[in-house]
Amino acid sequence: MENSQKRKDYISWDEYFMAIAKLSAMRSKDPNTQVGACIVSDDNRILSIGYNGAPNGFNDEKFPWGRDGENLKTKYPYVCHAEMNAILNYRGSKKDLESAKIYVDLFPCNECAKIIIQSGIKKVIYLSDKYANSDNNIASRRLFDECGITYEKMTVDDNSFLLHFPNK
Ligand SMILES: [Zn+2]
Repeated sequence: MENSQKRKDYISWDEYFMAIAKLSAMRSKDPNTQVGACIVSDDNRILSIGYNGAPNGFNDEKFPWGRDGENLKTKYPYVCHAEMNAILNYRGSKKDLESAKIYVDLFPCNECAKIIIQSGIKKVIYLSDKYANSDNNIASRRLFDECGITYEKMTVDDNSFLLHFPNK
């Protein structure tokens, strides 16, 4: 029998945009941490997406993906975070980012916090804040608080989505 009523189990805007951030994270080649970001205008249009990775032109095979040891031999001085990539990937007018929101699965580091602030983005929606007690994240929160950026931890009812790609 044909359905004539509106579906009731459709996903919310928040779930939709966070799912796109998570899907983007699946493109990351980082063996330890995969983060995705999705920038959305205040009228719920997707402006840009990004994930953490090597800078353009830096060979993925030669990139130092490790986290331990001498700083210059780790990923830290070189890696581009998801939020930064999402902001810089945007090919439209920078004015569009003013009053936009960014969905990111991990709470932003202090470097990305500064880039978010300077871009004009006004709201951060995140899933995990597992580094909440680090100096880095304390600085991020101070930056956001001082500069009037709101941040909100998203809670999800259903913690998994399955995508099916039928062959026919
Ligand atoms: Zn960052």
